[in-house]
Amino acid sequence: MEIKKIKGNTFCIDTGMTYLPFYKINDEEIIMLDSGWAKGERKGIEELLEKNNFKVVGILCSHAHIDHIGNNAYLKEKYHCVIAMPAYEALVCSSNVNLKVYYSSQTLSDVTERFGHMVCETDMMISENQDRICMCGIQFKIFHTPGHSPAHICITTPDDVAYLGDALISYEVMEGAKMPYAYILREDLKSKIKLYDLKCSKYVVAHKGIYNDITELITDNISFYKNRAERVYSVIDGAMTMEDILKAVMKSFHIQVNSRYRYAVIERMLRSYVEYLNEIERIELKMDHGFLKYSKAPYSKLV
Ligand SMILES: [Zn+2]
Repeated sequence: MEIKKIKGNTFCIDTGMTYLPFYKINDEEIIMLDSGWAKGERKGIEELLEKNNFKVVGILCSHAHIDHIGNNAYLKEKYHCVIAMPAYEALVCSSNVNLKVYYSSQTLSDVTERFGHMVCETDMMISENQDRICMCGIQFKIFHTPGHSPAHICITTPDDVAYLGDALISYEVMEGAKMPYAYILREDLKSKIKLYDLKCSKYVVAHKGIYNDITELITDNISFYKNRAERVYSVIDGAMTMEDILKAVMKSFHIQVNSRYRYAVIERMLRSYVEYLNEIERIELKMDHGFLKYSKAPYSKLV
């Protein structure tokens, strides 16, 4: 792990897997943009913070995913820092029961065991129409990009550096991603289009890259997600249940599923693509002898 300077007082921790930006208020106090993954990154992040004598006074979060807010509760306890997050994301991680509503296909016990450490108290809730936030005297701009998660945001620091969280993925991730995650793909694609209007001097993608211009990256992300949806569409043969599609996708995408947890993750990822295809009327959903079955729409629209 190492620290990279981005611009002015905006830096990021390169955890290997992720860029975690932070804003340096002075030599000691920092505001983190997301807090990282607990299992694989906490130790390294903590060592780096201590080595530099940094004190975390605030955490401003893009969205409530395990690899982005995994150290919120831990760092809040250690540094007594304030936490800000979009209101809906804050609600999701406010209790195990609320996490279970989000991760609905897993039991409360499984959710508590796997995601329980994400539960944290949020001090400042960011509303849907809020376009800036002042944290510890520092002004950040907020750009709403729902879709990847219900209330995902991008955050711009006073140095005009935009942290895009998971609103976009890098070329490196695209190479290895079989079915990148979007909670509501149609909204996520709309948010990606909105990003063409975000004019900043630097952009940080969480997984992972720093860019001066993201125009091409946005276009390539949109085609990548749409292409993945097309690949899901291409496995649909006749009338299929969600499980039939899942089975066909695992085979066609060479996805191995060897645990209940992995099954839940893959099923959730696939559901977004199937719902998207259904929403844009490429496939339709019908009842068939008591089963819900998807089939290609007879006059499929070209998208
Ligand atoms: Zn995410």
